[in-house]
Amino acid sequence: MELGDLLRFSHCGRTVFTDADAGLLLRCPECGRAPSLSLAEAPVRLRAPVVNGHRTGCCFLVTSRYGAVGLSEESDCELHVGISDSEGAVWSYSKSGVRRQRHGWEQSIAVPLVAPGDCIPDWDMRLEHFATLDEWTQERFEEQREFGSCCYGFALGFINQLMTSQGRRPITKEHFTSDLVLPRVKAASGYLAVFRYVSRHGYWTA
Ligand SMILES: [Zn+2]
Repeated sequence: MELGDLLRFSHCGRTVFTDADAGLLLRCPECGRAPSLSLAEAPVRLRAPVVNGHRTGCCFLVTSRYGAVGLSEESDCELHVGISDSEGAVWSYSKSGVRRQRHGWEQSIAVPLVAPGDCIPDWDMRLEHFATLDEWTQERFEEQREFGSCCYGFALGFINQLMTSQGRRPITKEHFTSDLVLPRVKAASGYLAVFRYVSRHGYWTA
């Protein structure tokens, strides 16, 4: 399932979520009338909280083997994280060592690592160099897993190498996760739940 945009509007004292393609056919599920274009009722488009990771550059990305569906908090499927280079190829550490992928990250949560339009010189070269370090070989994957790092260790290790090279303090996994990753995963999970309901029933009201 691909996550799409939703429309949200208020009517009959309720907040209604529906498919972004409902457009002119938009009706309140309570009274059957179309919402007016007044400020209070006008529909607002909500962007799906996932992006195509291959259209990002210099981002930390989170995805799952099952795409957006696996990003749900109830899903116990393991999340996979990686770093995109300036061309949208995604580098990540897995059982088979470091991979550079052009496909597979189409439904990702993205955490930009540089300001929009900005770029860190040699980003790609640094990433490539970091990926060839002995730490990230296929043989050492199980060992890294024991420490609970794996794909996370690779991505965060790269970020921290950049931070220290810029004279900044490295960021801990706990800090990075709680401040930057978990809030986004939580938001995506909530959005996914509403989106699934809307796909089945047409509306979700709160
Ligand atoms: Zn109504």
